[in-house]
Amino acid sequence: MGWRLRVDWIKCDGYGLCGDFVPDLIELDDWRYPIIVSEPSDSNQLHAAQRAVDCCPMKALLLERVPDEIRRAG
Ligand code: SF4
Repeated sequence: MGWRLRVDWIKCDGYGLCGDFVPDLIELDDWRYPIIVSEPSDSNQLHAAQRAVDCCPMKALLLERVPDEIRRAG
């Protein structure tokens, strides 16, 4: 099992805080909407990803447990 970040696009308002917290996992587009570029692969990244989830003002960023086969498939 691994972890995957996901954005609920209905809730996301593009504040961009998530990208500021974990720039190695989430890039921001020109309007500060998130682009997930990588998944947490070690405990430091997982901790930082959880912090970004906790700080999302819209509760739009989710950290999900997923089987490795699904993570690799994207
Ligand atoms: S912090 Fe939350 S609301 Fe802001 S861009 Fe990231 S996912 Fe969207």
